[in-house]
Order: sequence, then C-alpha cells, then structure tokens
Amino acid sequence: MTAVAEAPVARPLMPVEEALERLLALAEAAPVTETESVSLAEAEGRVLAIDLVATLDLPPWPNSAMDGYALRLADLQGEPLPVSQRIFAGHAPEPLQPGTCARIFTGAPMPAGADCVEMQENTEVLEDGRVRFREALMPDQNVRPQGQETRKGEQVMVAGTRLGPIELGLAATLGHAQLQVVRRVRVAVLSTGDELVEPGLPLGPGQIYNSNRRLLVSWLQRLGCEVRDMGILPDDLERTRECLGGLGDVDLILSTGGVSVGEADYLGAALREAGELALWKLAIKPGKPLTFGHYRGVPVIGLPGNPASTLVTFGLLTRPYLLRRQGVADVTPLRFDVPAGFEWTKAGTRREYLRARIDNGQVRIYKNQSSGVLRSAAWAEGLVEVREGSTPKPGDSVPFIPLSELLG
Ligand code: AMP
Ligand code: MG
Repeated sequence: MTAVAEAPVARPLMPVEEALERLLALAEAAPVTETESVSLAEAEGRVLAIDLVATLDLPPWPNSAMDGYALRLADLQGEPLPVSQRIFAGHAPEPLQPGTCARIFTGAPMPAGADCVEMQENTEVLEDGRVRFREALMPDQNVRPQGQETRKGEQVMVAGTRLGPIELGLAATLGHAQLQVVRRVRVAVLSTGDELVEPGLPLGPGQIYNSNRRLLVSWLQRLGCEVRDMGILPDDLERTRECLGGLGDVDLILSTGGVSVGEADYLGAALREAGELALWKLAIKPGKPLTFGHYRGVPVIGLPGNPASTLVTFGLLTRPYLLRRQGVADVTPLRFDVPAGFEWTKAGTRREYLRARIDNGQVRIYKNQSSGVLRSAAWAEGLVEVREGSTPKPGDSVPFIPLSELLG
C-alpha cells in the first residue's frame, strides 16, 4: 500500500497550459536524434529530419496552362496564323517559326520564341488549317513561367515537418525518392487494472473490457510510433517492477489507470523506488491526475484510466509531447470559435473538454459527459473547451478542437 497520490489538499490545480509547457520542455530535453532514409512510400506520418531544398526550378521550363495555340504576340497582325508544329506534354518543342503558331496542350513546354497561349475555345480553325484568334491577347497569357512555384535552392520544407499526403506529393514534384526522417518513437503501452479483460474473453464478476489498450495502440500507430503493446498489467507492485524493468529500450512508457487513487498506484510506487515521480493534479476535466516520471531513465507518462480521460489527456498533452520529441515545431491543434448550441450553468475549477459536434453552425454536446463514457467521443466531431469559471450560454462563442486534428 502506498500513499503517493495524497497531494497536499490546498495545492492549486496545474493549469492545462502549464502541464503542456512542462511536457514540451521535457520532450525537448530528450529528443529522438537518430534518423533514417526511407522511400516516399514508407514516409507517410514520419517527421522530416533535415530541411528539404529544391534541386530544380518548378516548373523546370515555361509551359502552357491550356490546350490551345502558342504564338508570338508580335506576329498577330489580324491575319490567321498557320500551325507549324504540335507540342504534346512530355515532348520537346522546336523553336517557333516566325509568322506561325504551334498547337499546344496543357503542361507542354513553350517553344522558344512564343510568348503567349490562347485557349482553343477562343480560336477558329479555318478550312486551310490556319488559326484565327478572336480575342485580344496579353504577353505571358496562359503561360506558367519557369520557377513560378519554386526556385532551385529554395527551402521548401523545414526539418520537423510531418509528412502527410500533401508533403509527400510536394517532395515527389521535386524528384525526391527518399527522405531523411526521424526514427519512429518507441512507445510501450501498459493497461493497468485487475478488473481488465481483453475483448473476446468472457467477463467475470467485476470485470470490464480493456478499451484503452486498443484506443492508444491504434492512435499511436497513426502518429507514426512504434508500439510495444504490453497488454494488461495487474495491480501488483512486483509485476509492475518486472514489466518496467524490461522496457529499458523504449522512448516512452505510457500507462493508463492506477493514478486516481493512491491505494492501487503501483506505477507510482515503482517509479519512486527506481526513478522519479511527479504527480500532477491538472485543472482538466475529464482527466486531472497525471503521472510523469522516469524509470531507470526512461520517461513514463501515466494517464487516468477512464476512457474519455485517457482520450483527452492523450490528445491534448501526450500527443504534442510525442511529436515534439521527434522535433515537430507546430504541435498545437487547430481550434476555432463556434456559437454554443448548449447552456453550461456550473462554473468549474477545471477546464472542461466536452465531447461535441457541430450542427447547423452551432455546437451541441453529448448528453452524458462522464469520463467513463467513450461513446460520447465516438458520437463527437470534436472537443469544446469550457474555461475555468465560465458558463457559456447559447450563442456565446466557444473554442472547438476537431478530433481529426488530434487523431492524426
Ligand atoms: P484507475 O485510474 O485505475 O482508478 O481507473 C479509473 C477508471 O477507469 C476505473 O473505472 C477503471 O476501471 C477504468 N479503467 C482503467 N483502465 C481502463 C482500461 N484500460 N479500459 C477501460 N477502463 C479502464
Ligand atoms: Mg485501476
């Protein structure tokens, strides 16, 4: 039996910002520095380790933005122009013969000597094959100039950028087949609790299914982590020591449960024996108790066990910590204000994150906001933040953080 969770009664709760700041500072003090080269196909969700500099101009040469005719404006004296060549995308043109135009297609290189393109809809092909231009034309019209997107030598992405489909597409436009990325963060996931049973097995008296394991393992995989799934850890000090002792090579030990009451806090007890331990009482709801410590030098985060608490504290605190350890600069999820479509009457001492969704431009909250109810989050599209002491009324602006921001 331990009493580690008995914090002094009068200690004020730690604001969410402070907890996040502390976690980010801890992450910066323990960056994952190893990098590896991976193919674009393997780079999804990884973090770029070095700045990406353009090794060519984009586009590499001026090209047509339209299907139409390339010409030199000075040749347009009111007479139709004969077509001297056809230029398809992917083929090198001849210089434009003076007094002619070239049939050209979107993405095809401009022939030397031409200075604009007219779209085919504004032209008329005469019986003799010459082309009449019906509209006035401007220099460079419908021409995509060389280097309009990027100039050779420009920094296109900075180290610390997370690579999603768009970033990978951008790397591909520059011809990169491989990217230097930060190695995956290794995270061990422990679900603590004598009451836990894995799905697929029958439930005994007093038992519940282990939902946090699945929630966290899937989520961590989405974040590009290498997961060491330790399954269920019983509420037992010896087993906790044994389990932690085998995790010397991970970057983070992430556990759930056992932090809300002192009596079953075997994680805390083990940390105090062979590491260090801080028990934070956070001004967050759902959430509140959060353990941060080290076990033989390996960082440990202990999240509260109630599934909605696990979700909120992982999404708002652990996710940014993990991203920052990989050098990601921007770890702040997008949030925007939405008019409340609900009334909140009890001013809280903790910042509440209500599972909510947007309906007709107003945000509605799930009817049961209990921290044990994961269904609230499955229904929700995001989290509404209700600040300490505030009581939003219908129509008041409330910050909304889409869950999609947190999940990826
Ligand atoms: P604890 O922090 O261990 O006191 O757990 C708080 C609440 O969360 C209790 O109702 C636990 O049964 C529940 N809980 C803890 N871990 C899990 C888990 N992995 N899956 C589902 N519920 C859990
Ligand atoms: Mg427990």
